[in-house]
This record gives sequence, C-alpha cells and structure tokens, in this order.
Amino acid sequence: MVATVEGGEPLSAADEAMEPDGRVRQVEAACAARGLNLTPARRRALEILVAAGRPLGAYDVLAALQRDGVAQQPPAAYRALDFLTAHGFAHKLRTRNAYVACEHPGAAHEAAFVLCRRCGRVVETALAPERATLARLVAGSGFTVEQVVVEAQGLCPDCRTAGTA
Ligand SMILES: [Zn+2]
Ligand SMILES: [Zn+2]
Repeated sequence: MVATVEGGEPLSAADEAMEPDGRVRQVEAACAARGLNLTPARRRALEILVAAGRPLGAYDVLAALQRDGVAQQPPAAYRALDFLTAHGFAHKLRTRNAYVACEHPGAAHEAAFVLCRRCGRVVETALAPERATLARLVAGSGFTVEQVVVEAQGLCPDCRTAGTA
C-alpha cells in the first residue's frame, strides 16, 4: 500500500521514518524468513545502494565492493545485484541500466518508477493496477503478461521549482 505524505515522497506505512539501516535490517529479516543466504557481498551491495539513495550502475557497485575488499571481480558484483533484484530487495532501472534499493523490501511486488530527468532522483511506487490493465489489453493477442516495466520520466519538485526560476 503506497500513501503520499507531505513533500510528495510516497512511503508505505512501514517505511515511515525508516533509516537506511532499517532497510538493511528488513532485508536481513526477509532473508532469514525465506531461508536466503545474505552473503557479505550481497549485504554490502545492498548497503551501497541504500546509502547512495539514487540509481547506481553495476560498475559503481563493483568499485565500492572492491574498495571494501568484499569482492574483486565484476561477476561478483553482478551476482550480488542479481540476488537482490531476484528477491525484490533492489530493482533494475532498464532505461538507465542502473540499480536502486527497493523502498519497501520484504513484500513481493512489481515496481514502477518516476525518474527526475535533471537530478536523477527516483521514486518507487506500486504497480498492480497497471499490470492488470495491460493483461486485459493484450488478452486478445494470446500473450501472457509476465513482467511490466514502468519508468516514467519527469521533474522532481526541487527541479521543477528550480526550472521556473
Ligand atoms: Zn520495490
Ligand atoms: Zn530533480
């Protein structure tokens, strides 16, 4: 459930006042509950994405992992990112070829994003209605919708204000 709070930041109820550490702890709990192995490289990759607060390319994540001595080779970074995205702890932005930490990890979901074209800020929102709509629209074609990627581009409130000045 996504609610819009003051300032235009969509947050789920569970996310309110959540600190970066809280998100990592949420993923730890989800991994424990689902029997997933949150290796040091996977955990560090998540921490890097959460701390960045913006989309990062795989090589940015690799550089940070190398700096920390957690992983040395690109495949290690990709494997860590694959794990995070496969389990809904992070998402890949197709239009940017970059990764962001999920804003409400732990719940199985598909994500939709609004990206600011000026500062690169990203806001995640829930997608369920669009998927249902698309599935209905293509019903006659015989296709089954397995995945929907929604990445809307625009201006965040800060950049919109700056643009009018
Ligand atoms: Zn998400
Ligand atoms: Zn912006």
